[in-house]
Amino acid sequence: MSVQLTQPALLKSHSYIGGEWVSSASGKTFAITNPSNGEHLIDVQDLGAQETTQAVEAAAIAQKDWQSRTAKERATLMRRWNQLILENQDDLAALMTLEQGKPFAEAKGEVLYGASFIDWFADEARRLNGDTIPTFAKDKRVLTIKQPIGVVAAITPWNFPIAMITRKAGPALAAGCAIVIKPSDETPLCALALAELAHQAGIPAGVLNVVVGRDAKAIGGVLTGHPTVRKLSFTGSTTVGKLLLSQCAQTVKRTSMELGGNAPFIVFDDADLDAAVEGAIASKYRNAGQTCVCANRLLIQEGVYDAFAEKLAKRVAEFKTGDGFSEGVTIGPLINNAAIGKVEQLVSDAVQQGAKALVGGTKSDVGERFFEPTVLTGVTDDMDIFSNEIFGPVAPLFKFKTEEEAVAMANNTPFGLASYFYSQNIARIWRVSEALEYGMVGINEGIISSEVAPFGGVKESGSGREGSQYGIDEYVEIKYLCMGGL
Ligand code: ADP
Repeated sequence: MSVQLTQPALLKSHSYIGGEWVSSASGKTFAITNPSNGEHLIDVQDLGAQETTQAVEAAAIAQKDWQSRTAKERATLMRRWNQLILENQDDLAALMTLEQGKPFAEAKGEVLYGASFIDWFADEARRLNGDTIPTFAKDKRVLTIKQPIGVVAAITPWNFPIAMITRKAGPALAAGCAIVIKPSDETPLCALALAELAHQAGIPAGVLNVVVGRDAKAIGGVLTGHPTVRKLSFTGSTTVGKLLLSQCAQTVKRTSMELGGNAPFIVFDDADLDAAVEGAIASKYRNAGQTCVCANRLLIQEGVYDAFAEKLAKRVAEFKTGDGFSEGVTIGPLINNAAIGKVEQLVSDAVQQGAKALVGGTKSDVGERFFEPTVLTGVTDDMDIFSNEIFGPVAPLFKFKTEEEAVAMANNTPFGLASYFYSQNIARIWRVSEALEYGMVGINEGIISSEVAPFGGVKESGSGREGSQYGIDEYVEIKYLCMGGL
């Protein structure tokens, strides 16, 4: 590996089950490579259904002790884990840049963001209050208590290799649940490093398990089919999410689904254009456009369309594409060849049908998996790029005339995760905020994610909320106690 870690113990090739680092039963391994240059980083153990079952069983045993501890005890261990994540920020970020490609400064930002969920939910652990409810009969009393839902499974994607895990592990551990995590096989190194730090923090064996393997179907089959798992939290594509939902139906598991998006980013004539350009830069191009809340369709009112396009193109031309460790780089590679192929196809289809690239528009010559940051004008809603999640550094600019038309275009999708709009008119701000069929709305703001706010979507973008005071509810059952004979 080309980068030296301060704490070499954070680089792991084995999975973490029941507090032990385990090999695959089959003896198989697979290679983790750097998307920036194809460098071979390490071979990791390739686990499957058998070891996943072991992990679920280990979690079930650990859960008993974990849930019986006081919230304060759990919070103390979580805070230690949080502290270790922060202390190892550079190593975790380096692993992330190596396996995922995002620029090192951005990776460091994700480590902080990821840690914030552990910190936040360590506090929330102590606020899982029940209720006393005014009774319905003189001789009865009505109470509720909140209890951990049971063993939790988490299946996570590659675009935020740390934050997508902590956002699930934080509330699960706080609530008193044990968790089995299946990270993406593109980015298991961050997940395993998090497990090592949880181990160092003293999180008890079996409370947090990480199973790494290429056979997602087999591992997912156990996580969705095993009756001991009581909840699945999934972040990934809508296609896989639907499949997992149907699998979970057999044992009636609780699910949280954070699926695909098709975020509109609307700029009205009355917007502060410079602020809108900065918002678009932040929302669209973060992680080279590979986030589920990235602006996917920029809807620009006709009066400001040309001015906005020109200003945006000028800013986009300032991006520096390259390896995430190189000085000044702001756009890294896409995750794999398939991702590059998809972006190329969407852009060339739009261009063939009359769209124009003001800047970019092609693969970059920096390396095989790099795409030039791009702004496309003259894009229309009958092109594929309108309805597909691009997941690349490409901003297609659609033109609209009226507010009504913009809202209709924005809502014309089965997805409903993040949305954004820019306007200085307070009445319009309320109207549009209420009319957008989305779980999240950025108003004159392009960056909305935070541990304090509820993250999640409506329609086919999923169900459930992560982070905030609501996030822990997904991991508890409300039990009703009725005391009679009083
Ligand atoms: P993405 O396009 O972001 O990779 P996916 O939905 O394909 O989205 O992957 C998200 C996570 O789901 C990854 O950890 C992946 O390995 C896992 N996954 C993919 N297919 C399945 C499946 N059939 N069962 C369980 N997990 C799966």
